[in-house]
Amino acid sequence: MPDSSPILGLDLGTKEHALASAATEGSPILGIDLGTTNSLVGVVDSGFPILLADEEGQRLTPSAVNYGADGSHIVGAAALRKRALEPQRTVTSVKRLIGRRAGEGGWQPPYDLRQLDTSPVEVSADILKRLKAIAERALEQPVSRAVITVPAYFNDAQRNATKQAGELAGLTVERIVSEPTAAALAYGLDKLDERKKIAVYDLGGGTFDISVLEMRDGVFQVLSTAGDTQLGGDDIDRAVVAHVLKGQGGQEGQGVRASSPHDEGRMASLLGAVEAAKKRLSTEEEVRIELPFFDGVQSLSVELTRAAFDKLARPLIERTRAHCLRALSDAKVKPEELDEVILVGGSTRIPLVRSYVEEIFGRVPNTSQNPDEAVALGAVIQAGILSGSLKNVLLLDVTPLSLGIETFGGLMNIIIPRNSTIPCKAGEMFTNAVANQKDMLIRVLQGERELAKDNWELGRIEIPFPPGAKGSARVGVQFAIDANGILEVLARDTATGTDTVLAIQNTAVNVDDERVEQMIAESVEYAFEDMNERVWTEARLKAEELLPAVEAALGQFGDAVTPEEKAVIEAAAAQVRAVLTTPEHDVKALKAANQALDDATQELAVRLVEQAMEESLVRRGLV
Ligand code: AMP
Repeated sequence: MPDSSPILGLDLGTKEHALASAATEGSPILGIDLGTTNSLVGVVDSGFPILLADEEGQRLTPSAVNYGADGSHIVGAAALRKRALEPQRTVTSVKRLIGRRAGEGGWQPPYDLRQLDTSPVEVSADILKRLKAIAERALEQPVSRAVITVPAYFNDAQRNATKQAGELAGLTVERIVSEPTAAALAYGLDKLDERKKIAVYDLGGGTFDISVLEMRDGVFQVLSTAGDTQLGGDDIDRAVVAHVLKGQGGQEGQGVRASSPHDEGRMASLLGAVEAAKKRLSTEEEVRIELPFFDGVQSLSVELTRAAFDKLARPLIERTRAHCLRALSDAKVKPEELDEVILVGGSTRIPLVRSYVEEIFGRVPNTSQNPDEAVALGAVIQAGILSGSLKNVLLLDVTPLSLGIETFGGLMNIIIPRNSTIPCKAGEMFTNAVANQKDMLIRVLQGERELAKDNWELGRIEIPFPPGAKGSARVGVQFAIDANGILEVLARDTATGTDTVLAIQNTAVNVDDERVEQMIAESVEYAFEDMNERVWTEARLKAEELLPAVEAALGQFGDAVTPEEKAVIEAAAAQVRAVLTTPEHDVKALKAANQALDDATQELAVRLVEQAMEESLVRRGLV
């Protein structure tokens, strides 16, 4: 059972802390937006954050890698061009897979990474190598350090996998930053003296993130984050492709047969054409999707109006509403208290997205940022802070889910609550709940449910200790989350001073990140049942402590207890036992039975103390 004496206070990041972590000034640190669809790289040059272009003058590098049969690796636009011919050899949207178990997540890419003899980390490393090369060419010097952005909802495993990819590409990853946080940083750089509450609505190719931040005196604090790791422009593209294939795109569309959906090359070119049409629809009222000889002989020619497109995209866009409301409620901010709603991510160019965001937040969103570049710019600014080339700005991030350990009775004991500012440390002292316990098993959990079994286990530590009375052992447990959101758990046996450290490096095995949102939704849905179960468990533990104590006291008193007293106490104890065995877990009844037993033994307890005192005085010859 926990007692509440903390072994370490909560150590929130401070201005000094972030600036102290700035590494040696001079050597450039790259800021990298490793996007699902596109990636960007930049650096602070002469005090200004800039994004770097490749040989062709392009700043956006498509996050695509083509693995040639001859062993070649082509990254970027050239890889994308090969996708239509070699869909199975061209890896795109790998960010959806990074840090996950194979086959997890529902989304099926057209390629098989095992057949290509690679992994999501290696593919990401190939993209990062390309970005590093673009930067080295532009800067005319080698670079070895970087700040990389990830969706706010990335869990430990995904953040670690991203870090690993950086290292594999020859980059020391100085910090992992959440994308909306980076975007807010880019937005706030020229308004440092202002105090603002900002929402960042980030709808990209593969993910949706919403964050509420507070910006004050150059300090950024993320108040809350929410999102969906499987929602973005790619889904809109697929909805349009399905519509085209169903022949619902007007008369001309009926020439398209849906009988050959497995022809992946053709599907890839259709996807490409649909995406291009979607982009044009952001500024035009109607477009024509044309693919010559699409169906072997027949060409495809489908007209798509903005209204028809909106109808297809709306259900997907509407899925962002619940996340926005959740982020606002977590941050305890009303929509009208927001100073700005910033739009980030390529898909926020869609007019329907803009009007829908306006509807949710009741204000016209700010589109001053280039939605493709804001995140990268923020990463560059953070890199500039770390390298010492930009000063007076600081970033504070938050944990997306609560972290804690299982305590006696199977309850979740939260050590670092959801939305805590990171980096942070917090700890508690724990003791053995039963006598002669030989070891203590610390199960590290992540999640929002009251019962340990409903949360995710990230790892476990076993601490052996010599058998002793209940409450004799004392183990301090400290959780530390570093600036990258990576968790380290330290358990200290205070008797021996022995430390056991568990670094949560690979939680992919245990954590299904898709369930992050489900976890939050379930915690709300089951809040009543969960709380009932927690209170029941606490009352049950109390009863289980009370019953043997009462029995022992009755034995000790023997004849000194009158038969009437004994009958009352035994009846109260029997009532507690009876309620304990009922399946419906009636908390009220158990609490009342516990109280009645407590009251019935009150006099006995007083007499026990008095008797002990008298015996002590007699022993010491004072009476
Ligand atoms: P990001 O992940 O932020 O690079 O966003 C990429 C997504 O934005 C892709 O799904 C693109 O198709 C989409 N996108 C880019 N430009 C536009 C545009 N003008 N209109 C609609 N969607 C766009």
